[in-house]
Amino acid sequence: MHRSNTCGELRISDAGRTVTLAGWVQRSRKMGGMTFVDLRDRYGITQLVFNSENDQSLFEAANRLGREYVIQVTGVVAERSNKNSNIPTGDIEIIATALNILNKSDVPPFTIEDETDGGDDLRMKYRYLDLRRPAVRKNLELRHRMAFEIRRYLDSKGFLEVETPVLIKSTPEGARDFVVPSRMNPGQFYALPQSPQTFKQLLMVSGFDRYFQIVKCFRDEDLRADRQPEFTQIDCEMSFVDQEDVLQMFEGLVKHIFKYVKNIDFTEPFPRMTWADAMRLYGSDKPDTRFGMEFVELKDLTENSGFAVMDDAPYVGAIVAPGCAAYTRKQLDKLTDFVKRPQIGAKGMMWVKLEADGSVKSSVGKFFTDDQLKGWLERGNARPGDLMLILAGETMKTRKQLCELRLEMGSQLGLRNPQDFSCLWVVDFPLFEWDEETQRYYAMHHPFTAPNPEDVDMLDSNTGEVRATAYDMIVNGNELGGGSIRIHDSELQDKMFRLLGLTEEDAQYKFGFLMNAFKYGAPPHGGLAFGFDRFVSILAGLDSIRDVIAFPKNNAGRDTMIDAPAEIDDSQLDELCIKVDIDEK
Ligand code: ASP
Repeated sequence: MHRSNTCGELRISDAGRTVTLAGWVQRSRKMGGMTFVDLRDRYGITQLVFNSENDQSLFEAANRLGREYVIQVTGVVAERSNKNSNIPTGDIEIIATALNILNKSDVPPFTIEDETDGGDDLRMKYRYLDLRRPAVRKNLELRHRMAFEIRRYLDSKGFLEVETPVLIKSTPEGARDFVVPSRMNPGQFYALPQSPQTFKQLLMVSGFDRYFQIVKCFRDEDLRADRQPEFTQIDCEMSFVDQEDVLQMFEGLVKHIFKYVKNIDFTEPFPRMTWADAMRLYGSDKPDTRFGMEFVELKDLTENSGFAVMDDAPYVGAIVAPGCAAYTRKQLDKLTDFVKRPQIGAKGMMWVKLEADGSVKSSVGKFFTDDQLKGWLERGNARPGDLMLILAGETMKTRKQLCELRLEMGSQLGLRNPQDFSCLWVVDFPLFEWDEETQRYYAMHHPFTAPNPEDVDMLDSNTGEVRATAYDMIVNGNELGGGSIRIHDSELQDKMFRLLGLTEEDAQYKFGFLMNAFKYGAPPHGGLAFGFDRFVSILAGLDSIRDVIAFPKNNAGRDTMIDAPAEIDDSQLDELCIKVDIDEK
């Protein structure tokens, strides 16, 4: 071994020991006849001292060390006179007796410290240096810890980790596939899995009644905020279960992780909310329940006022922001600008203030009496000093806008602390989603999701109203994961494909293998998948999943460090029988 100890290990109780450390030179300071070097490795930082009085040539060698040199040092652990309480090794230093330069380093493009990172582009180009920074390293340590605890929990429940192939055929998650040309089958392509969905269902047919896999998935999507083209799922499936069994099992997993990784004990069952309630109360199927501020519907109280904005709108909804009656004109204008942003798209915002003395003030005071306005405030349980913010318009659109406004107010009021965790299940999702553009139904989850047994009769007559046995786990307004009970009956699966506009040939071509398998005794089954990257980032208190991935891609889907994607040789293209014509595009 190159070292007897790590750079994070030695304490005052080790004083007098001769040790050997190896690591990177974080920085060095020369003070008179002494040179101090901070030596860093994965475990911490230890101060080395080179004293010219002890050894002049060693002292001179130390003075030639540059940042990020890799060195090996032998010396004696000594108590420090100038202790540093900020680091665990701050009580000691190593009086160096030997120095061995293992490797030199060019001057790095940014200093390897928590606070300085040289900006995003540089960080990603030199990701291997960025990963030396403790702040980034910590995230990968957390990721490891979580993966380990996930395996421990699932193993204890009898789940088998089974790997599924990466070169496959299109999967049903609804995004664009990444494809891989096949040299041996010219003109044919594999698709990379958007998830192992079909394989895990086949494993159920094979009798592996409890499956899981921590697995890479690939979706070729435009990288909206915080998506990665390749990401990791905790993919799970169980046989002989109904929805309740699945929810219990994986609520258990989430609680296990919180307990053993974050030391947070959730003793109560996670709340459950129907999709319909989530939309009605929060305008979102992934409500942030760290705070209340639920929607208040006012339509019936605003009718026939002569105020067209409200009269003509099918929906009038509000939130009550506690203690915000003191908001100034300027603050209110800013909120109006916020909801009018193109991404949000509201036409305007109305407000009512319930002043501390009980009087009301409103942007729509011209159209409504004080008593009417007080009626609104009462419905919203507003207290003196509160502010009601109101949007009106088409129902679903306005709910989504109000959702953004609610989140903004939550942030402004400091109610979205990343160290608070609020988990819930959203259940009873609709089975289908109508798409105006293509004038057809899409599966809201995926085409293998079973309808709620109570609604099966409505499949033809009231398709849009049919509920699915699908569920999502939400944490702090993020979809941590989701899944469903599956269809295991080929007839019902056939019908589902038809409702989704797939011809028999289409269905056969895409999912024939699964349909066939279902003819040989498919057990009832269901499962879910958690977004592992998201799970880690939530527990790390981070907004971005990029920071918990060792080598992530940028917003253009590029890895700027290895410079991928890249062109390939003509000879390779020839072999694959592929002609590239970018101009055409
Ligand atoms: N395969 C699904 C997904 O990736 C999860 C599931 O239904 O288990 O969203």
